[in-house]
Amino acid sequence: MSIPLLDLKAQYLTIKDDIDQAIQRVLDSSKFVLGPEMKAFEEEMAAYCGVKEAVAVGNGTDALLLALRGFGVGPGDEVITTPFTFFASAETIAALGATPVFVDIDPVTLNMDLNQLESKITPRTKAIIPVHIFGQMVDVERVMEIAARHDLKVLEDSAQAIGADYRGRKAASIGHAGTFSFFPTKNLGAYGDAGMIVTDDEDLAAHLRMLRFHGCKTKYYHDEVGYNSRMDELQAAILRVKFKHIDQWNAARREKAQIYNQLLEGLPLTLPGIDPEGTPVFHLYVLRTDKREELMAALKENGIGTAIYYPVPLHLQRVFRDLGYKEGDFPVAEKACSQAMALPCFPELTFEQQEAIANVIKGVYRG
Ligand SMILES: *Cc1c(COP(=O)(O)O)cnc(C)c1O
Repeated sequence: MSIPLLDLKAQYLTIKDDIDQAIQRVLDSSKFVLGPEMKAFEEEMAAYCGVKEAVAVGNGTDALLLALRGFGVGPGDEVITTPFTFFASAETIAALGATPVFVDIDPVTLNMDLNQLESKITPRTKAIIPVHIFGQMVDVERVMEIAARHDLKVLEDSAQAIGADYRGRKAASIGHAGTFSFFPTKNLGAYGDAGMIVTDDEDLAAHLRMLRFHGCKTKYYHDEVGYNSRMDELQAAILRVKFKHIDQWNAARREKAQIYNQLLEGLPLTLPGIDPEGTPVFHLYVLRTDKREELMAALKENGIGTAIYYPVPLHLQRVFRDLGYKEGDFPVAEKACSQAMALPCFPELTFEQQEAIANVIKGVYRG
């Protein structure tokens, strides 16, 4: 038996002809950067999210970086985010010379604990980055209410949550801006790096278009120091093919999650906690268990891929030691890091594979 954590080849084979044609179309046009595929994909994504503007960039990290810069975040500012996320959510804050400020997470959803959010706001706070972890949305409307009271910007890190919604509103569409990553393993994955920022703010979008292109509106006339970060035409063409399937793929992920919930019910482990107001897209299906090492070893022995998301909370990362956080500061995030493990969860996963995975897990608990 061999069941990888994620099977990108299986997905490619289901759409091979369309992908191959899209790649050929770009090669024939020989337009590779800042071309019609990127522009079309921007329009499609803006419409999908229900916002005015979408700006395609080189990757999800640059999407965060450029959006924060567009908000005016810089040295001396503080930006609040979660310690239970991929490094980029806080890395980009620090990269701009600002200070990441962390808030502990909710023990059910593992998203930022909004009850503790307001207590982290200081006169230096400039923005809040709620991260929709594992594809489940934060209540961004509530974040926006808090932000409005303190005149702060809100950036939804939706790297894991394309297509998710909360009370009918799509991920990335509620904050002042939202970002996506199209890293190959994400729910909508490119065949390389790609990212996007969406927003209703047309001035911000115009600024972001300059920032991604060396700070210029007209080639060779530079108004500020920017970046070189565009989504290339090959990735845009590939993503446009895959984008047509995203709702169906997300629905399949939800179905797989539901099946795991049934198969694993009654075992002494914590299944993913769901906020009933939202529709998650299960970028990852993450269990919490005191037997993580045993479970991962048994699954590995049976050829089943698993992974730890995330082994170290960001406040305890070596690079942030100067921020002065210590163990015990965010107990919920720290406990999640000691217990969380992801099972294979992707649209092409079969029921038989899920049954086999559940049987290995049950075997461990039976001893
Ligand atoms: C993947 C990811 C990113 C970074 O995206 P890249 O495209 O890899 O740069 C940022 N935030 C979160 C939560 C992610 O999962």
